Amino acid sequence: MEKYWEIFVNGYKGYANYLWSEITNPNWHNYFYWLIGVSAFFFLLEILRPWRRDQAKFRKDFWLDLFYMFFNFFLFSLIIYNAASDVVVNFFNDTLASIGITNLVAFEVMSWPTWAHLVIGFLLRDFVQWWTHRLLHWHPKLWDFHKVHHSVEQMGFAAHLRYHWMENVVYRTLEYIPLALIGIGLRDFFIIHIFTLAVGHFNHSNFKINLGPLKYIFNNPQMHIWHHVHDLPEGYKYGINFGITLSVWDYLFGTASIPHDGRDIKLGFPGVEKFPKTFVKQNLFGFGLTKDEKLFKEEELQAFSLDREKLNGNGKPKENGKPKLPEVKDDDLSVV
Ligand SMILES: [Zn+2]
Ligand SMILES: [Zn+2]
Repeated sequence: MEKYWEIFVNGYKGYANYLWSEITNPNWHNYFYWLIGVSAFFFLLEILRPWRRDQAKFRKDFWLDLFYMFFNFFLFSLIIYNAASDVVVNFFNDTLASIGITNLVAFEVMSWPTWAHLVIGFLLRDFVQWWTHRLLHWHPKLWDFHKVHHSVEQMGFAAHLRYHWMENVVYRTLEYIPLALIGIGLRDFFIIHIFTLAVGHFNHSNFKINLGPLKYIFNNPQMHIWHHVHDLPEGYKYGINFGITLSVWDYLFGTASIPHDGRDIKLGFPGVEKFPKTFVKQNLFGFGLTKDEKLFKEEELQAFSLDREKLNGNGKPKENGKPKLPEVKDDDLSVV
């Protein structure tokens, strides 16, 4: 136990030092400046060639999303994740060693040319992430966390990294074994990570481009905006267009759908108006720690029973055709 605590503390200290040296030493292997550069590039594109011309440059939640961007990319790691993940990795390796497995690298791809293990690593990671994303939509508990990402009502590049920090935990955990199996190194991971960062910013940006047949391979803003649609097309209960970097998985597994030009579609999900608006409450929501969630669930239930009444034909007409909601006082919305 003491060993893991030591690893935790060292991981924390190591990351704090690493972060400081990242900020003070700009270079090509630097996540911090890549994030700033890639973001500035897409912000400029949105200013020069906007898809939705009447959308404000500093759209709704722009600053909140910018904060999410740095929180998820750096601060989250700084506070806990890096330290905790060192512990998990060590614990995991120790457990494997105790049953006689000391080397997880099943396929020695490092001896292949650089481009080959980059491509394999990228494809494998994107595939695992695609399934993970589907899981986030399918499981009600995980969907509560993923709602943060889907609470975006005006789309722009910075919405890419607006998500609950628990998603970091879910994604990193599920992709760890497949990537360890092919022995992806840190330098490869860096290149893959920056590439996927750029495509992710692109998917969310207020920008239109015709990729031609490449749209069946790569995700793009005209496809991903439909992933954020408020009301899903008929027949797709859990969502559409789950692609992270590649769109090809959606075409292969039948979850691709672009019913029409999505430039002005309503974004969010049913009930998004009642979703918490601040960073702290949005992060507590998935854990059931805000009163907003209770209210939210009540509304979902009411909407559901209203539907059933309609179906059974025994519903009395409600005032203005809307369900009567419990009155909410300001202090009811405070964090418990
Ligand atoms: Zn999603
Ligand atoms: Zn998105």
